[in-house]
Amino acid sequence: MHIVVCIKQVPATLDVRVDPVTHNLIREGTESTINSFDAHALEEALRLCERFGGKVSVISMGPPQVKDALRKALAMGADEAYLLCDRALGGADTLATAYTLAKGIKRLLPPYDLILCGRHAVDADTGQVGPMLAEELGLPQVTMVKKLECDGKSAVAWRESAEGTAVWEVPLPAVITVGSEINTPRYPKPIGIMRAAKKPLTVWTAQDLDVDEDKIGLKGSPTRVARLFSPERVSHVEMLSGDPEVAAATLVRKLKGNKLLQVQGGC
Ligand code: FAD
Repeated sequence: MHIVVCIKQVPATLDVRVDPVTHNLIREGTESTINSFDAHALEEALRLCERFGGKVSVISMGPPQVKDALRKALAMGADEAYLLCDRALGGADTLATAYTLAKGIKRLLPPYDLILCGRHAVDADTGQVGPMLAEELGLPQVTMVKKLECDGKSAVAWRESAEGTAVWEVPLPAVITVGSEINTPRYPKPIGIMRAAKKPLTVWTAQDLDVDEDKIGLKGSPTRVARLFSPERVSHVEMLSGDPEVAAATLVRKLKGNKLLQVQGGC
């Protein structure tokens, strides 16, 4: 099996500054790491390849410093890494990112059997790239997966939802986005770190990818961030005293009134 894992490099701290003009994160001078959900995706890919054989490729779109994240992925056990890096790709929103990643993934050999992503990136946090990537590639997708079984031809995925757990079977190739419940990512061992230095890390520019210039970077991004702000936290304490039954009924009424309690069965 050839499993491709999409990796985004994110700031190691959530204490990041925002550019007042572009509203993008200011990444300069900030320590970075692999998006935590992507580490779970990589761990799952490594486990599947240990069972069924094959190789794991990691791919990322971002500035040159993303090589650090890719080297760490190679140290964890990935076989090959690809960085899509070009000034023309900068300023991409999720649509342009998914388009560019799809272009890169289509170039990989042998053709992919499975594509794994994190359920969302912990910085920009939209969770859109995985589903958009599946659309770009015309593949089935299952998002927010907490358990995955795969026989090389199809995958069975346990998906977290508001109603409970849904189990989906999809033919391969497919795109699966994973959550943190799926596994515990391994730490790179010293021997893995040494081997990583010799593993291939290929950088592709926009020209290498044969992209439509109207679909990449800022130009290809229909999203505009109009305003960025921290939500105001308001807390309110109210003590209910007196007859317990009356207090309980008042509590339920107040919780329902504030949409904090949903009683099933039409009550
Ligand atoms: P989500 O949809 O939440 O991510 C879901 C999953 O998709 C991730 O877990 C991961 O598996 C995959 N994924 C997402 N993004 C990438 C990626 N880039 N590469 C590989 N896999 C990915 N983004 C910023 O947030 N801030 C920046 O300042 C920024 N600067 C960039 C500069 C350059 C030169 C380039 C080329 C890219 C830059 N990007 C930046 C990356 C890109 O714009 C974002 O990755 C994209 O908008 C993803 O949105 P999201 O974080 O909501 O992803």
